[in-house]
Amino acid sequence: MYKVCIDPGHAGGNTDPGACNPVTGLQEADVALAVSKLVAHYLDAAGCEVRLTRTEQEQPETDDLSYRTGIANDWQADLFISVHCNSVNYEYAQGTETWYCDGSVNGKKLAAYIQNQIIKSIKYPDGRNIANRGVRDAVPGVNGLYVLSHTDCPAVLVEMAFISNTEDEKLLADRQDDFARAIARGVTDYLQGV
Ligand SMILES: [Zn+2]
Repeated sequence: MYKVCIDPGHAGGNTDPGACNPVTGLQEADVALAVSKLVAHYLDAAGCEVRLTRTEQEQPETDDLSYRTGIANDWQADLFISVHCNSVNYEYAQGTETWYCDGSVNGKKLAAYIQNQIIKSIKYPDGRNIANRGVRDAVPGVNGLYVLSHTDCPAVLVEMAFISNTEDEKLLADRQDDFARAIARGVTDYLQGV
């Protein structure tokens, strides 16, 4: 049975809410947790063993990311998926990007499967597919991401959409189940392709 560790980015409350939409107040930590729980549900239904790095709004008490990678490594997870929302301080950036650790062939494959599923299945209300910002290479020491370079197994970080963009924010608020299904399908595509 494949062990999949899902990491809902950030934590609620005052710990580390992540990015926040200034108009609606939607918080990255809350969206990440809600989507991650749904991903866990769908992967469990697909026969995976699943563990979350946090299950509550305000977990973990530490913002030390080694806490999260430690859960995956101690458990000897087969895959690690960190779930986030993107944000910038201007309005127009939008879309999905999925990151993997430079040099990880399987991380890159998993990222591509998840990215494809999200692009295929998430649409704006006018029928356009969500913008495809591509699969991205995180190079340790350059633009590395801690949770990708400190996990023993193939790992990806999904930036589902921009919480700072009006259209994307609506998707993050209203289409959490669709994001979760897409991420879970990306994982099962990967597992079938391995
Ligand atoms: Zn984040």
